[in-house]
Amino acid sequence: MDLTHDDWKRRAATLRFHGSHLIDGRSHEGNGTFTVVSPRDGRALADVADAGATEVDLAVAAARRAFDEGPWPRLAPAERGRTLLRLADLIEQRRTDLALTVSLEMGKLVTDAYHIELRALIATFRWYGELAGKLTDESPHTAPEALALVTREPTGVVGAIVPWNFPLTLAGWKVAPALAAGCTVVLKPSEKSPLSALLLARLATEAGLPPGVLNVVAGDGPVAGRALGLHPGVDVLAFTGSTAVGRHYLRYAADSNLKRVWLELGGKSPNIILPDAPDLEQAAATAAWGVFFNQGEMCTAPSRLLVHSSIAERVTEAVVERARALRVGDPLDPASEMGALAGHDHLDRVLGHVRAAVDDGARLRTGGQPLQTGTGGAYLRPTVFDRVAPDTALAREEVFGPVLSVLTFDDLDEAVALANATDYGLAAGLWTSDLSTAHRVSRALRAGTVWVNCYEEGDLTVPFGGMKQSGNGRDKSAHALEKYTELKTTWIRL
Ligand code: NAD
Repeated sequence: MDLTHDDWKRRAATLRFHGSHLIDGRSHEGNGTFTVVSPRDGRALADVADAGATEVDLAVAAARRAFDEGPWPRLAPAERGRTLLRLADLIEQRRTDLALTVSLEMGKLVTDAYHIELRALIATFRWYGELAGKLTDESPHTAPEALALVTREPTGVVGAIVPWNFPLTLAGWKVAPALAAGCTVVLKPSEKSPLSALLLARLATEAGLPPGVLNVVAGDGPVAGRALGLHPGVDVLAFTGSTAVGRHYLRYAADSNLKRVWLELGGKSPNIILPDAPDLEQAAATAAWGVFFNQGEMCTAPSRLLVHSSIAERVTEAVVERARALRVGDPLDPASEMGALAGHDHLDRVLGHVRAAVDDGARLRTGGQPLQTGTGGAYLRPTVFDRVAPDTALAREEVFGPVLSVLTFDDLDEAVALANATDYGLAAGLWTSDLSTAHRVSRALRAGTVWVNCYEEGDLTVPFGGMKQSGNGRDKSAHALEKYTELKTTWIRL
């Protein structure tokens, strides 16, 4: 895939989007529409059907029928797996269009969309496609006069609600294991990024998913998301998004049928650099890459850099240098190193955090201003603050943009206390050459993932999710199946 800037722009000019929901295997227009605007240049991309309660009802009814009466949950698991593998192949064939759609709708670099987001999506459908036929149940050794069976059954209709920062990968992390388990799904993408999900839905139909097994409805969170959350026909909610909206989903479940609620929420991840880091230059480079990758719109972004005071200035200066050198520009230009934020509303929110940090006394080392304003796009200079006080908003609240706060510590206990001084518990980084320190600190950190001497690495074999107010349950790996299956005990007296 060696497309030039001009190639990508030409493809973008001819790309046609699907703007209707997919319900029961068919396109569904519904009543109103809303316009998806590209943060790359502020131009309208497409008008998309806007789901209200009626469309959500139709989608849940289709998923319910497909679960209660259709073939999908009753197929041999390996057969379900083969459909997921066919879908992975179709995604691979349409990889360029899917990557371009993601880049245009939410502003990330098209090369990252192609190489990272789409690679992860394809790997996800392959992994669960291959796993589907390899699962076994339990028959524990128990009382001699009994036979006990512990079986896993698909939980039912899944409402999957996802954000815009990795619109396809995060959808895949929910849809693939749910389908592998035999559930049926209603997916609601973010209103900022419905176009890639609507294309994925068409590919799923082409791959041979029976009607109603995967439905996709586009629409506003407080309307379509709420209707899905409260719907009595939904058995499980699998949500990825902000902690504030995650609370709504717990309420929707409590106010309706006590459906299961799985939450992958926000983060404010610490990245601790100790003086014995194996390579300080590498640690600083990775710290900068981690917080500016995907415009900092990462739930796991290492947005709090905790550096030992003896090396703080050296590390901060290296990070600042990288921030200044980063080429921010058109997401379709392969030479760009950071794209556009997800929209002007989001850019304004991030700038609000920057202003508040200045008011709270943090020192702005670089960035903090919009750029490329003439393009109509939502671009921001990579931003670094140091002298950030631990009790200020910048040290505690998720910014979800390319904004780093640097804090310092004098000993390990202080570093761990600072790292854990947050309501979130999604991820953490640690740089040290000492194996015992690595294990001791990892144990002490309240985070779902701890990266040692690296950041943001992993594959499908390991679970992903948060502690504390970063959520519950895990995506990826065989553990994700726990979200979409119920355990049943059958006890037979012999
Ligand atoms: P968001 O919470 O605003 O929206 C997420 C989804 O919820 C969207 O589909 C949206 O339409 C819907 N929604 C919004 N308001 C709603 C309401 N009142 N009722 C029902 N549904 C509603 O999040 P976002 O801005 O799209 O994404 C950014 C957030 O997602 C960040 O907090 C980030 O940390 C988090 N995130 C978490 C993970 C993870 O795996 N832990 C991964 C990526 C992003």
